[in-house]
Amino acid sequence: MANVPVKVDPDLNIIKEIQEVGGETLKKCYQCATCATVCPLSSDEAPFPRKQMILAQWGFKDKLLNDPAVWLCHQCGDCSKYCPRGANPGDVLGALRLLVIREAVPFKFLYTFYNKSWGILVLPIIALFFIFLAMVATFHGMPNLFDMHSFPYGGPEYDLVIFHLPARVLMIDVVFVPLAAFVVIILASAISRMWNNYLDTYDIPQAYRYGMCTILGKYLVPALKEIMAHTRFTKCDANSWRAAPHKMLIYAFIILAITTAIVFVMADILGFHTPWNPILHPVKWLGNIGGILLLFGVFSIKAGRTKAEAEKSVTTSYPDNFLIYLILVIGLTGFGIEIIRNIPAIQNITSIVYLAHLVAVFILFLGVLYSKFAHLAFRTTAIVFDLYYKDVLKKMNS
Ligand code: SF4
Ligand code: SF4
Repeated sequence: MANVPVKVDPDLNIIKEIQEVGGETLKKCYQCATCATVCPLSSDEAPFPRKQMILAQWGFKDKLLNDPAVWLCHQCGDCSKYCPRGANPGDVLGALRLLVIREAVPFKFLYTFYNKSWGILVLPIIALFFIFLAMVATFHGMPNLFDMHSFPYGGPEYDLVIFHLPARVLMIDVVFVPLAAFVVIILASAISRMWNNYLDTYDIPQAYRYGMCTILGKYLVPALKEIMAHTRFTKCDANSWRAAPHKMLIYAFIILAITTAIVFVMADILGFHTPWNPILHPVKWLGNIGGILLLFGVFSIKAGRTKAEAEKSVTTSYPDNFLIYLILVIGLTGFGIEIIRNIPAIQNITSIVYLAHLVAVFILFLGVLYSKFAHLAFRTTAIVFDLYYKDVLKKMNS
């Protein structure tokens, strides 16, 4: 058969963009393939990271950004440890994931705020804008921020249809319910586009392109089981320590989400507000267990990263640090509220700590779309696709 010339359409800007967000070593790669051999997570069906290194060096933006394998990498650093050229393929894949996030979501200026260091000055202002608007509306004016009996534990109470809500609860609902809806809608549309692109990238025949219900029913539960057990993460060698604190963080977020859901139903719908000093209140203790896991997980991740950086198997970029410190602030301010409001000498700063907590939670919520935290949804999608694709291959070959 005669060789047919294939037109390639590289985008050389992508090389610079990868280098700007943590993949500065990209060009050192000379394609020896050591990384793909040592990577414990790479497979014949979805190989990485050597393939992505060469695609990146050639500027094949579309192929890179629509490749689920980019998300199957858990940035354990095994490949970077053994790369003879110091090309840090694990970090290059981390940089690629950030670019996927940027391409997947609208309102890209928010992505910039999350991933450039100066954005840390802007994000609290955005969060405070919405929180202050809701505060003024629900507290009937600006409460005294140096008196916790004015804010958050003061203000009017509302009877709305079947709900009985103090101002602080209504304020939180007014800010976070629309924010959660915004995040869910954008994520759903991004995941749907991503999935269709994966189908095209891997050239899945129409006969095997199942509907959403079949995909979710058949592959989501096994993917979630893997994630909960960190099956893939624990295969890593160089930084295998990362699996435990990462798992701890996932459990912490699940516990805190359950706690929030219980409080929402109990307080917002049924009108049972948690008592003032609830040392033995089961919901508070559930929240405290989640908070302790959160802090322990995040401190362990930070300590482990520092050690891995010294061994040169991982580098920590601004987006990595941003997420770590954001989670830390949420944990510390959460416990801070509980402790400070019970110490009369410093009680008057409770409102400020409460406000700081809300601001950090707002930034994390929105960060599900724009920060490294998006891996929560996008890596899950890639794992579901990986299980689905391997199953399709089996069926096609049988
Ligand atoms: S990234 Fe390193 S190990 Fe991987 S192919 Fe390139 S030079 Fe070899
Ligand atoms: S960082 Fe770990 S999971 Fe990612 S490509 Fe390298 S070895 Fe594989």
